[in-house]
Amino acid sequence: MKVTDHIKNANGKTLFSFEVIPPKKGKNIQDLYSNIDPLMEFNPPFIDVTTSREEYVYLDKGNGLLDKKITRMRPGTVGICASIMHKYQVDAIPHLLCGGFTKEETEYVLVDCHYLGLDNVVALRGDARKDEPYFKATQGGNAFASDLVQQISNLNNGKYLHDDIIVEHNYDFCVGVAGYPEKHMESPSLKTDLKRLKQKVDAGADYVVTQMFFDNKKYFDFVKKAREIGITVPIIPGIKPLAVKRHLQILPQVFKIDLPEDLIDAVEDCKDNKAVRQVGIEFAIQQSKELKEAGVPFLHYYSMGKSDNIQAIASELF
Ligand code: FAD
Repeated sequence: MKVTDHIKNANGKTLFSFEVIPPKKGKNIQDLYSNIDPLMEFNPPFIDVTTSREEYVYLDKGNGLLDKKITRMRPGTVGICASIMHKYQVDAIPHLLCGGFTKEETEYVLVDCHYLGLDNVVALRGDARKDEPYFKATQGGNAFASDLVQQISNLNNGKYLHDDIIVEHNYDFCVGVAGYPEKHMESPSLKTDLKRLKQKVDAGADYVVTQMFFDNKKYFDFVKKAREIGITVPIIPGIKPLAVKRHLQILPQVFKIDLPEDLIDAVEDCKDNKAVRQVGIEFAIQQSKELKEAGVPFLHYYSMGKSDNIQAIASELF
């Protein structure tokens, strides 16, 4: 079912959802299931599955030389979605990236998604490859998420990349896109970034999922500003429970987000990461309760491969 239909059917009730990361090549999918299993009691209507950018790896040739190869370390997003749907009878949503894919390859992925019965996709540009200083569009690929949304909308309207396809059946993907309450790191201002978000919605996006944030005021302001410029689609808040002390540096560095002083103080007072994990859980419970009271359609959690803390949070809310 489409995410937008789940929201309609909930009649104003806040629903639970979460995001998982495919296992690294060589790992067993059972590890992923072990993290999903404890969260199923909270009835998530959907689970998101991320896609990773390709990266360079250096293989030891044994003669003192290294072989430089490009590879995707966590492949299998669409396959994992199919297996999640099959195993848990919930919707699974693949993240599709511009970076690393030609438009042709994206079309093939969308055809696979349709055949597998996936009703939703999240359209993203992707970050720069680790070896690149900034994002470079793949040759023959989409440059911005709005272009990818347009490609999916075209397909929904029976328009393939090549005109000579005889279309007997249109697709009907529900499309999610990313939103940034503290603006995307490359954007010169929040106002400009919101204009870009509007472009994605105008191209056909049906809902927005936000980047993690720790100050609900930023989310509420973001939603207000989005509404003021005519973005009417649901805006689902993304929540990441802080889990280790190093997150105090890593999260602002990687995601260009601010952390509230009271959270920083509480984490700095912790003796070890077990205590930090508990602080993160308690903070996320309070944050989630306030968002739920404000009537958000979903509380969407970034599990990042571990689910015990999400389970502790969800058990207080759902
Ligand atoms: P865009 O919407 O294309 O925006 C990128 C930047 O370009 C912004 O600064 C925007 O303001 C600007 N911009 C947009 N359009 C134009 C234009 N026409 N001209 C000039 N500037 C423009 N990354 C992954 O690799 N895999 C994932 O699975 C993944 N999942 C994510 C899920 C969520 C909910 C979120 C919030 C992020 C996720 N990301 C993921 C990270 C995401 O790929 C990065 O944040 C990326 O840098 C931007 O992606 P976007 O889709 O927001 O890009």
